[in-house]
Amino acid sequence: MSIELKVIFTAALFAVSAVALAAQQLAQQPARHWAIVVHGGAGVIERSKLTPEAEAAYRASLAKALDEGARLLDRGGTAMDAVEAIINVLEDDPLFNAGRGAVFTAEGKNELDASIMDGSNLMAGAVAGVTRTRHPISLARAVMEKSPHVMLIGAGADDFAARANLEQVNPSFFFTESRWQSLVKQLTKEGRPVPPRPAGAPPPGPVVPVAQIEESPETRILGTVGVVALDRTGNIAAGTSTGGMQAKMPGRVGDSPIIGAGTYASNSSCAVSATGSGEYFIRLSVAREVCNLVAFKGMTLQQAADQVIHKELEALHGDGGVIAITPDGQLVWSFNTPGMFRARQAEGGKAEVQIYADELAANDAGASHP
Ligand code: ASP
Repeated sequence: MSIELKVIFTAALFAVSAVALAAQQLAQQPARHWAIVVHGGAGVIERSKLTPEAEAAYRASLAKALDEGARLLDRGGTAMDAVEAIINVLEDDPLFNAGRGAVFTAEGKNELDASIMDGSNLMAGAVAGVTRTRHPISLARAVMEKSPHVMLIGAGADDFAARANLEQVNPSFFFTESRWQSLVKQLTKEGRPVPPRPAGAPPPGPVVPVAQIEESPETRILGTVGVVALDRTGNIAAGTSTGGMQAKMPGRVGDSPIIGAGTYASNSSCAVSATGSGEYFIRLSVAREVCNLVAFKGMTLQQAADQVIHKELEALHGDGGVIAITPDGQLVWSFNTPGMFRARQAEGGKAEVQIYADELAANDAGASHP
């Protein structure tokens, strides 16, 4: 055999063994399945307070949002893409307190907060007090990917959105009659001044109860939206978007755009999105706390979420909940309110959509994918 032939033969042998080794390594990796958990806010959501029509509307919206993510992940989309796409759907849905349908500040404005985090590299982006950007979650992602910063606020954030070619809208785009009536009701009850109806809002229509809910003094629905997702490559991500708390002081920022409080994701522990009375969630660094208990205390995801919500949050008299996911496919929720709008699905499994606390299934001690 000539020298050249020997070289070609040896190189071919190496190539074949390398391919065989790669194939063997691939076969040894467990099959990855995607999974998603979505929330649409927690609060005093009880069967007696939700009309059958309102309940059906919420369930349909959650199922639609989940389906959007499932289709994307089925096509091999990333966890980050799923988080953004699902939240975009919910931001456009007036039933939820995010994007269109957001609650108003005491001065009658919509100030929107959002954040997103990629568990594969700990990159994160957040925005607060946004008033002109249609999809705050997409702006949070743009801050992460296209700026050197993690968080932008107010006019600077909206200006950056315009430069990043994200859709800008008139602030009245976010107006809904039901949220406006709800603000007027709360301010009147508390004896606070009622601001003028926002410029550009449609003329007053019939008084519609919030999201068709039969309101009573105890009805309190927070309505923030959040998503955690796992993709087929094993990466996890989390995102949260909100209008904050109704009648908040102008400039108030809650937990939703705070990385570690309302949102956190790390492939080495878990991804979390929170909803509830934000001040408590900030003080407890709720999202990061759940992941720390998984990473450093060896807790299951359900144990960690329950510990933070039912022990630490309750000790401060805070209310709300979290959704969470791990790279190995545990997908859980935990909340201390009478209800939380929520949905989840793992590849190959069925979609679950739940509202009330008494719908908690037996397998809520940590569902995992098939
Ligand atoms: N956590 C949000 C905030 O405090 C409110 C919510 O979850 O509904 O802004």
